[in-house]
Amino acid sequence: MAIVGGGPAGATLARLLAKDYKVLVIDKRRLDSDPQKGQFTKCCGGLIAPDAQKMLAKMGLALPQNVLVSPQIFAVRTIDINNKLERFYQRFYFNMDREKFDRWLISLLPDEVDLRCGSQFKHFEQEEDAVRIVLTQNNKTHIEHAKILVGADGAHSLVRKQLGIRGLVPREYISVQAKFTAKEIMPYFTAIFDKEITDYYSWIIPKEQHLLLGTALKPRENVSSKFELLQEKMKRYGIKLNKQVEKEGAFILRPMRVRQLSVGQSPIALIGEAGGWISPSSAEGLSYAFRSASYLAQAIKSDFKNYHKHYLDNITPLRRNIRLKNLKAPFMYNSQMRKWVMLSGLQSMQIDEN
Ligand SMILES: Cc1cc2nc3c(=O)[nH]c(=O)nc-3n(C[C@H](O)[C@H](O)[C@H](O)COP(=O)(O)OP(=O)(O)OC[C@H]3O[C@@H](n4cnc5c(N)ncnc54)[C@H](O)[C@@H]3O)c2cc1C
Repeated sequence: MAIVGGGPAGATLARLLAKDYKVLVIDKRRLDSDPQKGQFTKCCGGLIAPDAQKMLAKMGLALPQNVLVSPQIFAVRTIDINNKLERFYQRFYFNMDREKFDRWLISLLPDEVDLRCGSQFKHFEQEEDAVRIVLTQNNKTHIEHAKILVGADGAHSLVRKQLGIRGLVPREYISVQAKFTAKEIMPYFTAIFDKEITDYYSWIIPKEQHLLLGTALKPRENVSSKFELLQEKMKRYGIKLNKQVEKEGAFILRPMRVRQLSVGQSPIALIGEAGGWISPSSAEGLSYAFRSASYLAQAIKSDFKNYHKHYLDNITPLRRNIRLKNLKAPFMYNSQMRKWVMLSGLQSMQIDEN
């Protein structure tokens, strides 16, 4: 079996299948060594939400301390710019370094896995009883064959694109995230709602001596000027953003309809964000990556030949979860409904910053 992408979805699937099958993992990132300066890294907020924590627990995994970064966060500050409201809610996250997290997941792979880091998937062709996979490494082309090809290659999945199901992809956003030096530690994760910036949301996450300011923007809008406007508005709001030390961007998907989700078409399977499996309300993606990978692993182990049917069945609860999140989304994303919720004070708490 060949897995394109060694992120949380791909690394999890490889780990779960390694003892029973021949597994090849292809990733363009050098996940098997420390990141070098200028090297491509995964753009992420690096928060492990309770659903992802539960999945780690279910998989018998505990986080090593070196993956964590301070501060650990127990509250969300919600800023509604349009309604001029602010509330705090209790939430439990683990704050981590995403690159170290991905490297830790890869380090759990047994030696049996054929791990090809620094290797780029180009395209596939379906042959009679195998999939022919073309990849490049160090400017050389390599051909591999597999019974099943798994696309775990994230939001901008090439495997999904080549499957030709492009018309049904979830709504695509461009997330821009910049790192600023911070004078003081911010003890919460901030979620910002402002329709002048985006119909999704923006965020601030403290990371050691820095603050990450991020947002998810519609691709056809002027991404740079929207981000500058967000920065300006945050400064006006009193958020101290000092020197910008980094800025990165990535696609992020938002499945607004369950028919935009995909498990692939046998013998090509999709897991994680490649299949659109991500929360449409919070953009939390780690639990969806873990869950879709474990559903596919169970399907393959139970009936290799008919894995597709079993994967479709197994993933029903995740499909239901996304439907429910979309039903609840107006309470967060409809300005009037959000105003009612925030004014009601429901589940909010007072923070005494003295
Ligand atoms: C700005 C931002 C902030 C986020 N913050 C959070 C957060 O705080 N918490 C949370 O739970 N989720 C967050 N998410 C969502 C989360 O990052 C993703 O949903 C999650 O990483 C999906 O995991 P995955 O394994 O499916 O894909 P990815 O993590 O994207 O991994 C895909 C892998 O495939 C590799 N790849 C891609 N194409 C190729 C190719 N052609 N050849 C070889 N390799 C390839 C990539 O190098 C990568 O390693 C955030 C997303 C963004 C964009």
